[in-house]
Amino acid sequence: MTYIHNTITKLKKTSPAQAEFYQAVEEVLDSLQPILETNEQYQLNSIIERIVEPERQIMFRVPWVDDQGKVQVNKGYRIEFNSALGPYKGGLRFHPSVNASIIKFLGFEQIFKNALTGLPIGGGKGGANFDPKGKSDGEIMRFCQSFINELYRHIGPTTDVPAGDIGVGAREIGYMFGQYKRLTGNYDGVFTGKSLLWGGSLVRKEATGYGCVYFAQYMLEDKGDSLVGKRCLVSGAGNVAIYTIEKLYQLGAIPVSCSDSSGTIYHEAGVNLDTLKDLKEVRKVRLNEYLTAHPDAKFIPIAEYPEDGNAVWRQPADLAFPCATQNELSEADAKVLVANGCIGVSEGANMPSTQDAVEVFLAAKIHYGPGKAANAGGVATSQLEMAQNASMQRWSFEEVDEKLKVIMKNIYLNASETAAEFGEPHNLVLGANIAGFRKVADAMIEQGVV
Ligand code: GLU
Repeated sequence: MTYIHNTITKLKKTSPAQAEFYQAVEEVLDSLQPILETNEQYQLNSIIERIVEPERQIMFRVPWVDDQGKVQVNKGYRIEFNSALGPYKGGLRFHPSVNASIIKFLGFEQIFKNALTGLPIGGGKGGANFDPKGKSDGEIMRFCQSFINELYRHIGPTTDVPAGDIGVGAREIGYMFGQYKRLTGNYDGVFTGKSLLWGGSLVRKEATGYGCVYFAQYMLEDKGDSLVGKRCLVSGAGNVAIYTIEKLYQLGAIPVSCSDSSGTIYHEAGVNLDTLKDLKEVRKVRLNEYLTAHPDAKFIPIAEYPEDGNAVWRQPADLAFPCATQNELSEADAKVLVANGCIGVSEGANMPSTQDAVEVFLAAKIHYGPGKAANAGGVATSQLEMAQNASMQRWSFEEVDEKLKVIMKNIYLNASETAAEFGEPHNLVLGANIAGFRKVADAMIEQGVV
């Protein structure tokens, strides 16, 4: 469709060198063809032109002093993308790969993901090209404080509510909240993913991983299948991967892999969750150390990965859970997965499959839960944290987990019913994109030209 083509061409001119952002936009716009063609209101109101342009982009210098006394400088970002459905909501990523393209793709995805949860939250994202790896606690604190010295003026419990993402967990949220409180004097729910000691919600830490497994469960159950006995490949070794593995065990599946920037662990007997938590949550060391406790496992170092993809996807399994990062699953990986008999993919990470890989899954008609639907449990539970903070309540683990399950089920039903409405019942990419878009677009029209 020339309309979509023109939008992308214009974006490439006005926002140059943002490959990941174009990729995210292209995937959504491709799915929207059936509704754009029939809905004149969307065209008349220039909804596409407006939705691809962030409402506000904040980019700032983050100077801080390292342990040697040298001044370091990083780039900080907060992209307030769309507030049609509620305050901007989305995580902060601290990783050396962060740039405007990465934050914009994440912010764009977040708009539709948040809409799909059915909760009143808009879309935003932020972060810095700061590498927390190898930094001391003091360095992390000074970085977080400097980051907030600029960001505090843009955020607030009813305007913009950041949370964690890669490289940002409860420790970083603690330092950022502390500095925000010092500067503003406000003790309010401006961040989610807080410590359980002072305003955090039970299940928030586990929510993205648990939600991504619930999503897989609903995809399978809808077709009369279940997770029981399924061998599952999981990538990553962070928060999302760890709690994906935990929930897979709880629901009777067998997770057989995990990975980090040093390589992949494939453990035929099943990944040992206690060892993994000890390595990553307590000792914070590389995955190859897993072999010390489990010499029967296999470690594939990064240097031995295939040129056209990722070793973790080359192992045999029934299901795949990409829980590491964007574009970690290539077209070649997708072909190997399908050839090895993989029947489903549920994405814990944001945009982990390349566009060509997604095409392979859709053509093979396997179960495919795109990130913006399958990993929405994290941000949904963040909204539950906001609700608890605003009403000064604290819900039990069971209460929050039950709400998370219902939200994931509704996201699945919403995406699959919308896919069926447009004649492609198995295509949850189409279903999730249209369902999320419609809510945001209709709200934008009702709120006028803003
Ligand atoms: N970073 C997570 C995501 O990609 C969570 C965001 C949040 O809780 O606000 O959805």
